[in-house]
Parts: sequence; structure tokens; C-alpha cells
Amino acid sequence: MARQVKRAFKYRFYPTDEQAAELARTFGCVRLVYNKALEERTRAWYTEQRRVSYVQSSAALTEWKKTPELAFLGEVSSVPLQRNIVWSRPLPEGAVPSTVTVSRDRAGRWFCSILCADTIARLDPVDGAVGVDAGITSLVTLSTGEKVTNPRHERRDRERLAKAQRNLADKAEGSKNRDKARRKVARIHARIADRRRDFLHKLSTRLVRENQTVVIEDLSVRNLVANHSLARAISDAAWRDLRTMLEYKADWYGRELVVIDRWFPSSRTCSQCGTITAKLPLGVREWNCDGCGAQHDRDVNAARNVLAAGLAVSACGADVRPKRRKPGGQPARKQEPQRVTARIPRLSAGKRPSEERVRQQHTGSTHGRRP
Ligand SMILES: [Zn+2]
Repeated sequence: MARQVKRAFKYRFYPTDEQAAELARTFGCVRLVYNKALEERTRAWYTEQRRVSYVQSSAALTEWKKTPELAFLGEVSSVPLQRNIVWSRPLPEGAVPSTVTVSRDRAGRWFCSILCADTIARLDPVDGAVGVDAGITSLVTLSTGEKVTNPRHERRDRERLAKAQRNLADKAEGSKNRDKARRKVARIHARIADRRRDFLHKLSTRLVRENQTVVIEDLSVRNLVANHSLARAISDAAWRDLRTMLEYKADWYGRELVVIDRWFPSSRTCSQCGTITAKLPLGVREWNCDGCGAQHDRDVNAARNVLAAGLAVSACGADVRPKRRKPGGQPARKQEPQRVTARIPRLSAGKRPSEERVRQQHTGSTHGRRP
């Protein structure tokens, strides 16, 4: 059985100076329009308790273009993008491109992401089921007893990041050296993120391939707990990414992802007899159950409980679809959109899109949604 999905393929690209200037100008306009629309929405809500729809915002943009001070908005369009962005790397067979999004990260690297309609073949059903526990010492622990550690380079990269951040703090405000130090911090951040995403893609694909049911805990509320350690921040971010990947990959391949309530005391419950231990400080990695005397590794025990809870939910036929994040859960705030999307003209068959003005480099499976 096959199904149609939307899939984005992301590549690094290197614009010419002229293209970079044009893109920067477009980004500026997008940012301006975004902030202006947000301002209007906020004003309408607070002063008139009125919601502004997308259509109304769009109509407002047309009006803004008519005013002298915003007339320049009319000169910028996404059309130059679709003329200029030509990719040389062939997309997978059967993938039909629809839009291209150009973005620039904080390290100053340009990317182009091509959204395609793609056909995904479902995997044959398997018997396996696995519980996944999120940790700090190891990235995740599986109910099978396996501990998955952070990517190999992460520790060293993190030390480099800390050093670069200290270096940045020493530099005088507004100086050239500060700018240089800031770029270096951004570069290391980007490298850590790239490597981690690559790693999480491999892990999520493996979990979904090997198991019919994957059970995870809903940790979305955990961020409310104040803990500002870098390790915590990174493990939280990794966990969110992993969950997102598991969600869409389970959907693609016909697997089941069960998300269980985070308030379930998975660490403190004995996975063999169900006795709940009153206290289990975070530092305690191994413990013995008072009820049955079983010896537990903290994380493996938690992962087994997650699996058991998930299978129970699944068997009861409860609603096990992963909960979508509530719309409006993210507070609206001014931002600087560093991306622009344009529709792609269909390439006629046989025409080779090999324009060399845009040199492109495939950045591996680090980016984009690929299994
Ligand atoms: Zn026990």
C-alpha cells in the first residue's frame, strides 16, 4: 500500500552576491509585512476584540502597497526567486516539486527547501513494540534495555561552544571582533544541530522500522520546570525533534505511535510488580523495589513502564493519536522571518535544470524530511 505525502528536501546553496542582495531585500519586506500584520491583528483584538483573518491581512497588504511610503513593497516579488533558484540535484523519482523556500540560518548559510508530493510505500507489519524513555545521561533508553547515547561529537562540540561563548562575552560591544566571535558561536550551534538532526533521523527511522508500536511519554509540559542547564535544554530540544519525526514516520509507514500522559510516575513504579516507590531522587540510577526486591536500572525500568502503559492504552482502543499542539499555544511575537517561499514552475520533461549560476551542494540527510 502506498500513500501520497508532502515531503521537503533541503539543500545548502550558494547565491551570487547579486542574488544574496536580492534575497536580503525580499527578507526585509517579508519581515516588515509580517510585523505590520501582527501589529494590526494585536490592535484589532485588544481594542475591538476582533479577529483578523488571513484574507483580511492579505487585503490590507494590497492597500499598504498603494500608500506612498510602502509602495516599494509592490516592487518586490517572489518571482525573481523562482527564476534564480535552479537546482541541479535530481529529486527522488516520482517526487513532484511544488514550492521552494529559501532561508538563511544564523550562521549565515543559505538553504533552499523544495516541497514535493511524494509516494511512500508502507512497511509490512511487524510484531515488535518498544517503550522509549527520555533521559539526560543517555539521550533515550529503550524498554529492551538499550541505551542510546548522544552523537559522538556532541560532547566535544559542546565544549567548543562553551569556549566560543566565553570568548564572545569578552569582546567589546559593537566591535569587529565581537561580530566575528558571534558568527563563530552561530556556526558551532548550527553544526551541533545538524549532527543531532541527522542522528535523530537515523534513530527514529530505526525505531519505526523495527516496531509496530512505539510508545513515548508526553514531556511537553516539562519545560515549565525551571532548569536552565545547557544539557537539559539540548536534551529537551532533541526530544521534541525525535517526537515530531516519530509522529510523521509512524504515519507514513503505517505504524502506531502512542503518547502517554507525562504525569504517570514511570520512574518510580516497579515494572515487575507495580509497587510505587515514594521517593527516587534524580541522582539514583539504580534501585531495588521494596515490594518484590527486583533490581532496576532507573531508565530501563521507566522505558518498560512506558511500554506497558502504551500497550494498555492501545488495547483499550482509547484515542491514541498524538495530540497536536494547541493552536495559539505559542505566544505571538515579533519575529524576523528569514525565509521566503515561491511556487516552482513545472520543468518540462527532458529539460535539464543544470543552470550553474546557483552552485548547490547536497548536505546529506542532515536536512529535510527523509527517512
Ligand atoms: Zn517490584
